[in-house]
Amino acid sequence: MKITFYGATESVTGSLYYIETEERNFIVDCGLYQGTGQDLALNKEMPELPYDQIDFVILTHAHIDHCGRLPLLFKNGARSKIYCTEATAHLSELLLRDSASVIEAENELENAKRVKAGLEPIEAFITEDDVNETVPYFYPISYDKIIREANLEIQFFDAGHLLGSASVRVKNVFTGKSIVFSGDIGSGNNPLLNAPTAPPQGTYILTESTYGDREHQHPEERIPLLAAALEEELRDGQTVIIPSFAVGRTQELLFDLIQHYRSSGQLEQFLNMPIYVDSPLAKAATTLFKKEARYMQPAINKMIESGIDPFYSKNITIVGEMKDSIRLAKDNAPKIIISSSGMCQGGRIIGHLKEKIESDKTTLIFVGYQGEWTIGRRLLEKEATVEIEGKSYTPQCKIIKLSGFSGHGDRKMIKSWLNTIQEKKHIFITHGEEEARFALELYLEDLATDITIPKHNTSIEIED
Ligand SMILES: [Zn+2]
Repeated sequence: MKITFYGATESVTGSLYYIETEERNFIVDCGLYQGTGQDLALNKEMPELPYDQIDFVILTHAHIDHCGRLPLLFKNGARSKIYCTEATAHLSELLLRDSASVIEAENELENAKRVKAGLEPIEAFITEDDVNETVPYFYPISYDKIIREANLEIQFFDAGHLLGSASVRVKNVFTGKSIVFSGDIGSGNNPLLNAPTAPPQGTYILTESTYGDREHQHPEERIPLLAAALEEELRDGQTVIIPSFAVGRTQELLFDLIQHYRSSGQLEQFLNMPIYVDSPLAKAATTLFKKEARYMQPAINKMIESGIDPFYSKNITIVGEMKDSIRLAKDNAPKIIISSSGMCQGGRIIGHLKEKIESDKTTLIFVGYQGEWTIGRRLLEKEATVEIEGKSYTPQCKIIKLSGFSGHGDRKMIKSWLNTIQEKKHIFITHGEEEARFALELYLEDLATDITIPKHNTSIEIED
């Protein structure tokens, strides 16, 4: 078996692995690179592969850094099934359409510049039509079902990271050897999802390492701390902006806040806190979460089945139209705005940031990972000036970072997940920034005979 690492080797985005076996060739994840500059250019350089001979694709979960380049497979001639869970298929369609509309809008801006410079306009590298070509290939399977492809058995395990997320094992039924793809591993303290489940056995394991160099501190304190910060900022007359991933984090925040105030007997106080959720994607995702409630913890599923909406209370306004979003950004009354994208790289959050970061009456609260080179990271690191859509801003706002909200497990979680896998021989560390990858390599030292940190665009032969 030969594995080629085409993405998420030297960064946390652009996941793409190509696996060649005697009887089947397949791809695991095909995500977009996120960030700026160099990384984004990589999106347009798909590896040269015999796309029409790919037998199947495995998609671990719907985050765009795992599914965002799927349309390019089909544009390049692939015609194979994409195995994933049903929730992943639905969420991926939603996220791919959203991503295509962003790519098309950026392309239009680029074309306007090209035309001015006397150049021909170019087509967006992924379009809505490309997404339409891709969607019929999603082939949903459930966690407990085993799929057979020639001598390979494919099985999905709940990764507890995002609705429908999975770790996947591909096993050679003749030799008993298998390869496990961790996908992204959940933190184990997600209020909506189950704790991550590892496959019982795995010979070769590709593991993510996003938080390979740290341990999450007191995740149980995250909501009381957030609630206290929100109360204080509102009392001081601040507009609080929370950049939040539209899919996953926003639903967790809403659920957690409602539960926190309800269980502490302070619901009345909560109902006086004006909360605006400004993200069309979050709105659509919330509907999907309720539809696919069986992928959540049994108690939440039960709640939804009995007609309770765990993501809504009457102080929460879901902003629909763009004109309402603009009006909201210009309004100065104290309030809480939860908007996306979570790393401030696009979406409606941009309008709020442009309007508000130069004011000291604004408080930005970060509750999620901010990738290298993103606007979110620049704000978080308190850079003196931050460029947004070609204009320079001098942030005067208060910036708070609350930890404990990670969708990824810390190094302890990764180790305990790996510990439950029997027969592991060789661990490959991917999907992490440099420090995290090397720190995790040291931390896992005693777990397997071999540990490798693969380099981008390299292949490794393993005995299957
Ligand atoms: Zn993810």
